[in-house]
Amino acid sequence: MPPARIVGAICASVPDADVGAFGLGIPYEHPLGHRGFTHSLLFAFAFSAFATFAYRRLARKTPSARVVFAFLLICLASHGLLDAMTDGGKGIGFFIPFDNRRYFLPFRPIHVSPIGFELAGDVLWSEVKWVWLPAALITLAGKFLGPRLRRYESTRRDAQGSPNHQSE
Ligand SMILES: [Zn+2]
Repeated sequence: MPPARIVGAICASVPDADVGAFGLGIPYEHPLGHRGFTHSLLFAFAFSAFATFAYRRLARKTPSARVVFAFLLICLASHGLLDAMTDGGKGIGFFIPFDNRRYFLPFRPIHVSPIGFELAGDVLWSEVKWVWLPAALITLAGKFLGPRLRRYESTRRDAQGSPNHQSE
């Protein structure tokens, strides 16, 4: 079983499996079309629940279901949110099947990637600037703060005395 962060990365790219809809003749605007149902909040919840269940069955040692679910939900929902910050396409169906309208966020600095593999330099640069750099900063902050927070927590616990020792 791959580590949780790889599962998270796979989950974050699952919504774009919907480009297969074009091959089936489903138009972009259709609720099942590109950036439709697989980019909705309902799909993010349902797929994270399924992936959490599968991951906890297959992986030997995992964090609690709540932690895995929250992590995978953030991974999945971030896909639609980031797509909604791109400057192309027809919007995201966040609320499909309850509301089939497509939405964008008011802030759209990311150039939309062409469907296919020809990545233009400025498209790549806008992703580096608005997605990869912030993600790298968050990762670094986590690496830096995580051990410090854990150490702080354990010294605080030691200072309070663990309940097992108090009874002695
Ligand atoms: Zn997408």
